[in-house]
Amino acid sequence: MKTRYALVTGASRGIGRAIATRLAAEGYHVLVNYRANEEKARETLDEIVAGGGTGELMPFDVGNAREVADAIDEWNDRHAGAFIEVLVNNAGTRRDNLLFWMTDEEWHDVINTNMNGVFHVTRALARYMMSGKRGRIVNVVSVSGVSGMAGQVNYSASKAGIIGFTRALALEVAKKGVTVNAVAPGFIDTDMTRDLDRVALAKRVPAGRFGTAGEVAALVSFLVSDEASYVTGQVIGVSGGL
Ligand code: NAP
Repeated sequence: MKTRYALVTGASRGIGRAIATRLAAEGYHVLVNYRANEEKARETLDEIVAGGGTGELMPFDVGNAREVADAIDEWNDRHAGAFIEVLVNNAGTRRDNLLFWMTDEEWHDVINTNMNGVFHVTRALARYMMSGKRGRIVNVVSVSGVSGMAGQVNYSASKAGIIGFTRALALEVAKKGVTVNAVAPGFIDTDMTRDLDRVALAKRVPAGRFGTAGEVAALVSFLVSDEASYVTGQVIGVSGGL
């Protein structure tokens, strides 16, 4: 059977790791991207292999256009005739501050990773999906980008930007068998939310708890499946009702 390839950005930890292991269990050969944390990325790969799947590491900084293009070109050179048909743009960061105190660096770092990063990686892969007439792109955004969150103007702007990106790109590629959707998690139990007051925040969630990375992965798994071929340009919450 032909190998099917999926790239998950930011797959060394958290939601990305859960998505990578889930897609591997469903038969994809998963490219595990990360920026710096090779040890954690290897743990993801070990988990994939322990579950009977296959994968490989693919480090690059999504915010660095050159690094992204080089990594994808290098992979394509090694895999003549194959293409990456699933892309999950999951890599993300947050640097919270009130607007009044927000530094240029906090603004640009978050916009560069969360927004420019999606542009760099998607641009590098979408044309292969279009010529292969099959593709699934899922962008991990956030409830913060849908309704806004105080202290997160940079993060909310970056995620809202990617919601617009998702809707526009879906229109561009629909006829080529490529779908583009976004999932919007609420509070999910990962390193990113480790510093938050969980007890207080869980009270704001109608479901009364933080979600798990596996619950986000389950939604992504549906969106990349063949069954989801008529779902495109959508933003779907996975937020316990938040
Ligand atoms: P996390 O545990 O902090 O993990 C972040 C992942 O992104 C790591 O794998 C990290 O790689 C990678 N990463 C960060 N910057 C990168 C870059 N420039 N290039 C490549 N990889 C980069 O975060 P998470 O909670 O799993 O979040 C995953 C996604 O879900 C993010 O887009 C986040 O905004 C979104 N989200 C999370 C929540 C939540 O409650 N956790 C809610 C809504 C949305 P290294 O290990 O190498 O640093």
